Amino acid sequence: MTHITIIGGGMAGLATAYYLQKKSRESGIKVDYTLVESASRFGGKITTDQVDDFVIEGGPDSFITQKPWGTQLCRELGLADRLIPTNDERRSIFVLSKGKLVPFPGGYRLTVPTEFVPFALSPLISPLGKLRMGLDLVIPPRREQSDESLAAFIRRRLGVEALDKIAGPVMAGIYVADPERLSLLSTFPMFAEMEQKYGSLIRAMQAAKKHHPSPNGARQNSGGQSLAAGSRPQAMFTSLRGGMQELVEALLAQLQGDLRLGCRVVGLRYLSPGFEVTFDSAHQSLKTDAVVLATPAYTAATLVESFAPHLAALLQKVRYVSTATISLGYRRADLPAQSDLNGFGFMVPKSENRQILACTWSSTKFNHRASADDVLLRLFVGGDQREHLVEDWADEELLALARAEIGAIMGITAQPVVKRIFRWPKGNPQYDVGHLDRVAEMEQLAAILPGLYLTGSAFRGIGLPDCIKSACTTVERLMLNVKR
Ligand SMILES: Cc1cc2nc3c(=O)[nH]c(=O)nc-3n(C[C@H](O)[C@H](O)[C@H](O)COP(=O)(O)OP(=O)(O)OC[C@H]3O[C@@H](n4cnc5c(N)ncnc54)[C@H](O)[C@@H]3O)c2cc1C
Repeated sequence: MTHITIIGGGMAGLATAYYLQKKSRESGIKVDYTLVESASRFGGKITTDQVDDFVIEGGPDSFITQKPWGTQLCRELGLADRLIPTNDERRSIFVLSKGKLVPFPGGYRLTVPTEFVPFALSPLISPLGKLRMGLDLVIPPRREQSDESLAAFIRRRLGVEALDKIAGPVMAGIYVADPERLSLLSTFPMFAEMEQKYGSLIRAMQAAKKHHPSPNGARQNSGGQSLAAGSRPQAMFTSLRGGMQELVEALLAQLQGDLRLGCRVVGLRYLSPGFEVTFDSAHQSLKTDAVVLATPAYTAATLVESFAPHLAALLQKVRYVSTATISLGYRRADLPAQSDLNGFGFMVPKSENRQILACTWSSTKFNHRASADDVLLRLFVGGDQREHLVEDWADEELLALARAEIGAIMGITAQPVVKRIFRWPKGNPQYDVGHLDRVAEMEQLAAILPGLYLTGSAFRGIGLPDCIKSACTTVERLMLNVKR
């Protein structure tokens, strides 16, 4: 029987094990697998803490519904009843502008205004900035088709203010990335396509709004929600009632392979055919027919270096930054009267010179995150040029920083009743300009080494649905090569 070793037990590794089992059952082709995780728990970036009534996410708090793979997997795992939508009736998002929280105007789609009135009335962008955004309608499209940074693209089409106040915090925020380095083609390829097809982002968005169905076949309303004919709008993001950890537990409940926790892979030898995998524990090793690398790219690089140095060098080029989330739970009665937290939270443009990147009002965004008498906030720190906060600062310093920022921005000076920090050292892959070309080359190099597979967030999407899709695709390719 073919034996496969999956290295890394985060979303991608767990989903690989799940689909391997499923495809093996469906096809009748017998495979055996070992899933190896170096940490003391499975889940990787997914981790949820329950403290009293607070449900605190350390990593992802939800996933996007427009990419179907997350919802599909949850349904397959029997979690359909556990899925909870964002509270979209309170879906405002704020942007810190000159020290004040200013609502993000309605009618925007992916940072592009599609409705004139909310755009014209919003104080977020200056009159000159608005005029500059309007020039998008007349600026000719770029001739070259090569990759460019998100910042260069937005500056060229919509101007500097749109980059600082909207695109920077919204889009770079999703990737916790510096927009000056973030690859447009790896993250928002639809922008480049819109520019080429319509000559203007604004025209493209208006056309999409009128005529085009959304990727899952539904129409969309101006808030970006999907509208299936005659049905209630589907929220843009969904989570699980008890937190994202439920997905990890549901997957683990299905897995029947050899699961090893607290077991670090320290060596990989190519036996052609097959591999020898070495673990840190008592110099143990195992022989296996195929290996799926579901670790961060820098770990994969060290493992393949001895037999695929060029691939290792490309894997090392995927840059990672460190981030942390700081969750603070409060008694609602302790907050100032004006703190109605009527929205999903706020984003902080670079020009505001603050230490935090964003803050999610978790207990407004989702139900079941705190009791009715409490509120839960989650702050993000770290990323480009601010990694020292995550790597060097002590917990007390980070908590003091978080409280000072919340005090200055939201006027909240009360003592939190719950505090929780999750650090993600070198936890966020950065899709720098040229990333897609490098990934294509990595995939070609891996394909000529029979039995070697790369999967996970380092390559073609960082979101949970992307990781799930990547696992599914990996298993499909792998099963084609398994002997009956
Ligand atoms: C703070 C934060 C918030 C996020 N929010 C969202 C969100 O709301 N929605 C969303 O869709 N995505 C979000 N993401 C992104 C998403 O969570 C990640 O991209 C995804 O979970 C990564 O999964 P993965 O399996 O590729 O990697 P990981 O989760 O990093 O898993 C890799 C695993 O490999 C293990 N490993 C490493 N080296 C070895 C070794 N030598 N031997 C054995 N095991 C090893 C690690 O311990 C780890 O468990 C967020 C990420 C972060 C950090």
